[in-house]
Amino acid sequence: MSSEVHIGLVVRGHGRHYVVEREDGTRLNCLTRGKKSEAVVGDRVRWARSSEHEGVIEGLQPRRNLLYRQDEWKTKSFAANLDQLLILVAADPVFSESQLTRALIAADSAGIDARIVLNKTDLPGAAAARQRLEPYRDMGHEVLELSLKAQPQASRDVLQPYLQDRATLVLGPSGTGKSTLINLLIPDAQAQVGEISVALNSGRHTTTTTQWYWLDAARRSALIDSPGFQEFGIRQIGAAELASRMADFRPLLGQCRFANCSHRHEPGCRVLDAVQSGVISASRYRIYDELWQELNSTPHW
Ligand code: GDP
Ligand code: ZN
Repeated sequence: MSSEVHIGLVVRGHGRHYVVEREDGTRLNCLTRGKKSEAVVGDRVRWARSSEHEGVIEGLQPRRNLLYRQDEWKTKSFAANLDQLLILVAADPVFSESQLTRALIAADSAGIDARIVLNKTDLPGAAAARQRLEPYRDMGHEVLELSLKAQPQASRDVLQPYLQDRATLVLGPSGTGKSTLINLLIPDAQAQVGEISVALNSGRHTTTTTQWYWLDAARRSALIDSPGFQEFGIRQIGAAELASRMADFRPLLGQCRFANCSHRHEPGCRVLDAVQSGVISASRYRIYDELWQELNSTPHW
C-alpha cells in the first residue's frame, strides 16, 4: 500500500468518519488516527490510503475561516473555508432578531460575508418582515427577497449571481424554506449524499450532519447545509469584542469615558446615550445585553 499523502476536501464528517473528495471529484471514506479529528466540512486535509477503498486523515491544511455552532450546551466548530453565509428568514413564521443578530455576529467575527434572505414574500407577512429588516439594511446588510415556492425560477435568478464561484453556507430556522431552496438548487442532492458509506449514512446522522453540495459540474460553486442547526456558537468571541461586531454600535466605540466600557452601566457611555436618544433601538440593545451576559456566564463544561 502506497503511503503517499494527498490533499482532499472534507464534504461530510461524523465522529471519526469522514468523506473526503479527491481532486478528480471522486470520494472516499477516511478515518482519523485518533479518537476524533479537528477536521470539519470545508477543510482541506492530508490523507493517505489505508486500504483499497479507505484512507486515513493525517492532518489539516491551514484554514481561511471557521464557524462554530451551539450544540445543546457545547460550542463546536462545524464548517471551514466559507465565502458567504446566507441567513434565511421568512415572512412567516416571524423570525427571531436575536438569532439573526447571532448569525451576523458569528459571520463578522469569522470574516465571512453574510447576506439576509427573506423568503415567502408572497405571504401577507412580507411587509412587516421587510420593516423589521429595515434597520439591518441601514446597517449595510444586503437583503435578498425570494418566494421559493410561488416563484422558484425568479428566486433562482435572484440567488444565482451570489452563489457563483463561492462556497455558501445556508442557515435557516425550521419552516423558513431551506429544504425548498436545497431541492430547487441541487436536484441531485440525494445522489451527492448517496455516495457515502453506510457508517456515515446511518439514519440518525443524515439529519444532523453538515453536508457540502456542489451546485455545478465544474465544482466551483458550493452550498453547505447544516440540518438541525439552531444557533451559532459565539463563545469563541470575547465579551469585549461583542460590541464591535454589532454594526450599529461600531461607530460609537472608542468614545465612551472608560476605554474598557462594557456599555451596560458605566457613566459617560456613548452606547447607552445612543439607546436613550433612540439612535440604537431598545430591541438591539436588549440583544447585546443578552449576548454579553451569555459570554460572561460560566461555561457549562
Ligand atoms: P425548512 O423547514 O426550512 O426546510 O422549510 P421547507 O422548505 O420545508 O418549507 C416550509 C414550508 O414553507 C413548506 O410548506 C413550504 O412549501 C413552504 N414554503 C417554502 N417556500 C415558500 C414560499 O416562498 N412561499 C410560501 N407561501 N410558502 C413557502
Ligand atoms: Zn460604553
